[in-house]
Amino acid sequence: QNNIFFIRVFMILFLSCIAFRNNLCLSSIPSTLKSLPLDGHFTFDEVHFAAKDFGNRYQFLPAAILHPKSVSDIANTIKHIWQMGSHSELTVAARGHGHSLQGQSQAHRGVVISMESLQGPEMQVYTGNSPYVDVSGGELWINILHESLKYGLTPKSWTDYLHLTVGGTLSNAGVSGQAFQHGPQISNVNQLEVVTGKGDVVTCSEKHNSDLFHSVLGGLGQFGIITRARISLEPAPDMVKWIRVLYSDFATFARDQEYLISLGRTFDYIEGFVIINRTGLLNNWRSSFNPQDPIQASHFKSDGRTLFCLELAKYFNQDKTDVVHQVRHEIEHLLSQLSYITSTLFLSEVTYVEFLDRVHVSEVKLRSKGLWEVPHPWLNLFIPRSKINNFADEVFGNILTETSNGPVLIYPVNKSKWDNRTSAITPEEDTFYLVAFLTSAVPSSTGTDGLEHILTQNKRILEYCEKAHLGVKQYLPHYTTQEEWQAHFGPRWEIFVQRKSAYDPLAVLAPGQRIFQKAI
Ligand code: FAD
Repeated sequence: QNNIFFIRVFMILFLSCIAFRNNLCLSSIPSTLKSLPLDGHFTFDEVHFAAKDFGNRYQFLPAAILHPKSVSDIANTIKHIWQMGSHSELTVAARGHGHSLQGQSQAHRGVVISMESLQGPEMQVYTGNSPYVDVSGGELWINILHESLKYGLTPKSWTDYLHLTVGGTLSNAGVSGQAFQHGPQISNVNQLEVVTGKGDVVTCSEKHNSDLFHSVLGGLGQFGIITRARISLEPAPDMVKWIRVLYSDFATFARDQEYLISLGRTFDYIEGFVIINRTGLLNNWRSSFNPQDPIQASHFKSDGRTLFCLELAKYFNQDKTDVVHQVRHEIEHLLSQLSYITSTLFLSEVTYVEFLDRVHVSEVKLRSKGLWEVPHPWLNLFIPRSKINNFADEVFGNILTETSNGPVLIYPVNKSKWDNRTSAITPEEDTFYLVAFLTSAVPSSTGTDGLEHILTQNKRILEYCEKAHLGVKQYLPHYTTQEEWQAHFGPRWEIFVQRKSAYDPLAVLAPGQRIFQKAI
């Protein structure tokens, strides 16, 4: 009996010590952070904005938000947390513009770094034979566009929406209609400055610290915080011929897309989308398009049918008359080789900035109607070319037949433009498609436009891909178990784990991706 009594007392003391240690760690977090010498500052009370993202479905409250003014603010904070080791549960998430979908830029009871506060050296454009721009990791792509245009230059590869940060898109890939030609944004970066999970500030490129460079690109924020990036530039056009043509047959649509991306001299931008019984503002949000001929525009309604729209753009400079003629000629020649429904040619001419910033126009419209900050259960997939017809048959023929609750993009890219040393995961084949279900859910609806219905549809799509062994990879991936992550990375998992233990051994960084768990 005495023994049992002593064991009980021992257990109580032991558990109290652990609770005391944990409480001590938790209660002392703000004060240890407060004592750090910073150019910027922490906030500990007004932290709700960092528990929100574009997906509008996950909310994890952080303990603090760092508003850095310098790279050393970020390095000092991470070094401090690294030195506390496993005595602290603190993790760190960089928040770009918070346009993640499932809490990827959040840190439950951790520190969120508001990257947009980072005031590094000013954006700097270098002209010359291989022009580039040096920017802060928290810079928005729209600002980079405007700054480089002052020098007659522009980045080559984009996302469809430019109010995203450099650090955010480079942590994923950055894919749009230019990717077939230039590769994703991660293929158009010359150099990075990174703060690792140990608080070291490292400059890296193809030549120097190349393993860190490749790790961070497409690395889902796991290996370091991107504080600066050197983005490759090219001469900028000022105008764009923007074209849309329709197909009723998916196989013909896909064949034409693949033909166009296989050509050396072709359009500057090639995308496509699916029109499923198109109605309503939410479905149209990405189609801010004014065809010149309004009669043709009325054909755009799909009247209950599923149509496939090929979207193309050709850049040009309007002051060069001979080039304008040549561009018109090239467009006519390229279009003549395609098999779209001939009466559905929409063609308009817009400025380069209008073209690239097109989604922002829809954002403004949706915001004014309270339809921007709704749940966004998006699903983004990379599908191998050889399986795209099977995928389309099942998904557009059986699963998504009534409506799409938002745009569905579908376009092929060339894998040769992706660097397989980066952390981005793509299918095995030389050509693969990006299929993006950009759905919006109507809050508290229990119908087909409600969150539950859309999530069930997403699940059906994923289950079909799995069962049919399509070799699909998620883009902007979201998984809840390490087994699923392991399957996502496949043979690249071991490298990913090795890189994690080299650059962020305590798993401090980007906890919102839920790949690794900090050991405490
Ligand atoms: P956040 O959402 O804030 O962060 C994303 C991830 O990166 C988080 O894990 C975060 O911790 C990490 N991170 C952020 N900054 C840094 C940094 N400086 N260093 C290291 N890690 C960092 N994607 C495309 O590829 N193509 C598109 O056409 C496209 N269109 C989109 C349109 C809209 C309307 C939206 C909302 C998103 C779109 N996206 C597109 C997806 C977009 O690329 C990702 O959602 C991206 O994560 C958003 O960037 P962000 O700057 O808001 O980053």
